[in-house]
Amino acid sequence: MDQKRRDHVAMISIPAHGHVNPSLAVIRELVDRGHRVTYAISEAFAPQVAAAGAVPVTYPTTLGEPKPDRSGSEDLVELLGIFLREAEAALPTLLESYEDDRPDLVLYDVAAFAGPALAARWGVPAVQLSPTYVAWEGHERETGVAAAVAASPFAAEVFPKFAKWLADNGIERPVAEFINDPEQGLVLVPRVLQPHADRVSEKFTFAGPCFGDRSHQGTWEAPGDGRPVLLVSLGTVYNNHVDFFRQCVAAFGDLDWHVVLSVGNTLSPADLGPLPPNVEAHSSVPQMSVLAQATAFVTHAGMGSTAEGLYWGVPMVAVPQALDQHVNAARIADLGVGRHIPREQATAEALRDAVVAVASDPEVLRRCAEVREEVRSGGGTAKAADFVESCLPAREAH
Ligand code: UDP
Repeated sequence: MDQKRRDHVAMISIPAHGHVNPSLAVIRELVDRGHRVTYAISEAFAPQVAAAGAVPVTYPTTLGEPKPDRSGSEDLVELLGIFLREAEAALPTLLESYEDDRPDLVLYDVAAFAGPALAARWGVPAVQLSPTYVAWEGHERETGVAAAVAASPFAAEVFPKFAKWLADNGIERPVAEFINDPEQGLVLVPRVLQPHADRVSEKFTFAGPCFGDRSHQGTWEAPGDGRPVLLVSLGTVYNNHVDFFRQCVAAFGDLDWHVVLSVGNTLSPADLGPLPPNVEAHSSVPQMSVLAQATAFVTHAGMGSTAEGLYWGVPMVAVPQALDQHVNAARIADLGVGRHIPREQATAEALRDAVVAVASDPEVLRRCAEVREEVRSGGGTAKAADFVESCLPAREAH
């Protein structure tokens, strides 16, 4: 048998939970297989990546810690500018840090533009790691992205800056191609959540969600009174919506359910005022643990939360706030595993009716069970690590 290879994989990411978290189980698996993984990230995330077995390589972030991206821009070009600024800030530090320790392969988050720039500079393979779905052939036309990008007030500033940054780094590719057309990509969402999966380039491999160890979050215990459990969360970024959570208290406070509200770090549970006895509110909950015991999930339909809801087969009521959440919410409805309520229609009455309806609809429950099995058979962490290993440069036999 071949002797086991021990390679140096450099993961380049940005300090945002929705980007770092999905990568950690893949990192842990690569480390467990004997590879050395370094992880370029901000200081605040260093303990988390170290806990996954990687060696943190820190750079000064521009994203405003400790709550990155809290304001949550909805303008794609503005976001592009924010991530470009981050890459500009990170690149010189990372070039220096890796000067005497070049990796064999660069793995990089979709928003970490420094990743492919470094790989090009070093002449090593680059694998894009996508915590969300990827572009399919024709998506710019079909989704209105092209029009939104053209109309963005940020376009005149961001695109020339981006093109210059690419040129300065010796990358001769148009900006859109650099972003959407990687050498190869690993997609960490269930294939069932990828729009037009049949029109996605073969450069992309779907592993589906790779759940890591969440024991640091502790576990959640249901009260044990037999009442159905409802989890309500808007995730960790676009969650500053006190009115929404108040609507939820009004909607579910007198239902015979046990209700868990995760309000995030921007709001405080105290902002909701006194709560009915069947409602508990927290800044954060161990979501996997709650979902494992939940009967329904009111979610912003973030990629992580949607995949977790599908994984646990929990009927969802999706109230999307921004970006890919709208696509996921529509997909949840299309898959028959829940309902989609646009946020301006998310009154207490609409929320309550939807939760009660999805939780008691046998067809929804049947679809939840079916999709759960499909998601669980996606390959996950082992498939993701296999793919990364398959991209490592060939070694000459000694
Ligand atoms: N999460 C959690 N506890 C909470 C709220 C969120 O553990 O109280 C986790 C959740 O399980 C998911 C991630 O944070 O893995 C949120 O990611 P998602 O893509 O759903 O949304 P984002 O926060 O990026 O908008």
